[in-house]
Amino acid sequence: MSDEVKAEGGTTEVDAIVIGSGFAGLYSIHKLRNVDGLTVQAFENAGDVGGTWYWNQYPGARSDTEVNAYCYSFDKELFHEWKWSERYPRQEEIWSYLKHVADRYDLRRSIQFDTQVETATWDEAASQWIVTTDDGKAWRAKFLIEAVGLLSATKVPHFAGEDRFKGQIHHTARWPQGDVDLSGKRVGVIGTGSSGIQVISELADKVGHMTVFQRTPQWVVPSKHRPIAPGLLEKIEADYEGYWRDVLYSVTAFGFEESDIAAEDVSYEERIKRFEEQYEDGGGFQYMFAAFNDVAVSRVANAAATEVIAGKIRETVKDPVTANLLIPSDLYAKRPLCCDGYYETFNRDNVELVDVQHDPIVEFTENGIRTEDGVEHELDVVILATGFDAVSGNQLKIQHRGRGGVSLHDHWAHRPRTHLGLMAHGFPNLYMIYGPMGPFTNQPPLHEAQVNWVAGTIQHVLNNDLASIEATADAEEAWIAESDEGASGTLFAVTNSWINGSNIPGKPIINMFYMGGSGAYMDKMAHEVETDYRENFTLGHAPVPA
Ligand code: NAP
Repeated sequence: MSDEVKAEGGTTEVDAIVIGSGFAGLYSIHKLRNVDGLTVQAFENAGDVGGTWYWNQYPGARSDTEVNAYCYSFDKELFHEWKWSERYPRQEEIWSYLKHVADRYDLRRSIQFDTQVETATWDEAASQWIVTTDDGKAWRAKFLIEAVGLLSATKVPHFAGEDRFKGQIHHTARWPQGDVDLSGKRVGVIGTGSSGIQVISELADKVGHMTVFQRTPQWVVPSKHRPIAPGLLEKIEADYEGYWRDVLYSVTAFGFEESDIAAEDVSYEERIKRFEEQYEDGGGFQYMFAAFNDVAVSRVANAAATEVIAGKIRETVKDPVTANLLIPSDLYAKRPLCCDGYYETFNRDNVELVDVQHDPIVEFTENGIRTEDGVEHELDVVILATGFDAVSGNQLKIQHRGRGGVSLHDHWAHRPRTHLGLMAHGFPNLYMIYGPMGPFTNQPPLHEAQVNWVAGTIQHVLNNDLASIEATADAEEAWIAESDEGASGTLFAVTNSWINGSNIPGKPIINMFYMGGSGAYMDKMAHEVETDYRENFTLGHAPVPA
């Protein structure tokens, strides 16, 4: 393959286009450049690399995954040389890491920033994708890799009167670069998911007054943030391959020891004791997967898990009315949250909890927000911690036309459809990293595994002089059926959250994940390689030149 980018018919041609430069996009650029020296062009709508860690600069933003499994594994030198300062690093630190990765592997030269990809159209005759960008340019590439983020398209609800509000409104995931001065201000926060609880806990003692507009409370356990366990990173390095293999072949890929004991198999007292211990040790995913192995599938286990948290809320929050409002009625089956000091925040004199389930927001006024009970909450700044059009939202912002001109919107009208969360029928040579119907796991290790798989298929296409590789309709159907069957046995299936699309009005409420676990997913990807992609893919041959 040529290193040169060729100009042809007004479009610029490369071998592969990558969309996004977060964890998955950066690694895609690096990996693909090393497949037969492919020419790679990436587009990023932000002003710099980082993806989620570029956009989410809100106060308090930090990873709630232990950093030893929230980083790249592909280069042991990188793992060795980057010194993480904390177990759950802040946004600034993860963003610095990703900028370092971009520089260390000279990735920036392949990335055009501040550029939104608008359309992607499959040119059947040329077996290429034609990609157009918002700067009016067109590009061609045989392979298109979309690393656009699972939680990236923001959900920005609109409220009556918001234009007349004289203060500022900021969404957590579009936080302005540089600090927003909030000291002494009257701040309202709408939303109490992962973003909301972090911003609330961080800002409560820094602002003048905080009003938390809570519609649905979520179960929060402390993260029990602490330094990285002494010797842990060195221990990982001592058996580097083994460690990452264990991460990928676990259920969740979070790098902690998952429980193999069912809460249903032990006494009530033992259940409660174990959850108490886990609560003290901290961590949301740990609370769901390290105490017992059936919290996400058994109502008995789930009830014990929530009983312990409810007890902690009552112990912590002094005002019993406020404590009751903070206790969810939902199952513990949304994306698990953790944050230190969240419930303690509501004991502060300057923090007020407003139940907008009971008294919904009616409108914004010039000076704040009026709720249905007639109260006008006076505010200088409103923070929307209202989440994302998750999983499929960012993919659908790009107008795709696949084989025969079929649009991705139409293909996904009733639900997102893919094989392995990676490829959709009718969209040859188009790869989605962590796309819909992908694994429900910690992301960075699986990003790498998926990108490695993508690189393998591309190598296969090149080695065999193929024009294209495309998931068959049957493979897609079977994958969806298998994923749905697995998910239907979990409590996520009966609990509303972004995981099933229910947070977006009008979006199909449906399973969007493969929940069979990381290890099983790795085996599924390996199976395709072992069978030379013959079972579940159509391998397209280039037309023989006349
Ligand atoms: P989210 O979990 O979807 O929470 C959104 C919140 O906004 C909910 O409390 C929701 O209430 C509320 N809301 C939405 N529209 C509203 C409206 N019109 N009026 C009142 N309330 C409204 O979103 P998120 O907190 O941004 O988190 C999304 C995901 O991003 C997380 O689950 C996690 O995977 C990821 N994340 C991770 C971290 C981290 O720690 N590493 C940090 C932030 C985010 P309802 O529930 O009633 O709809």
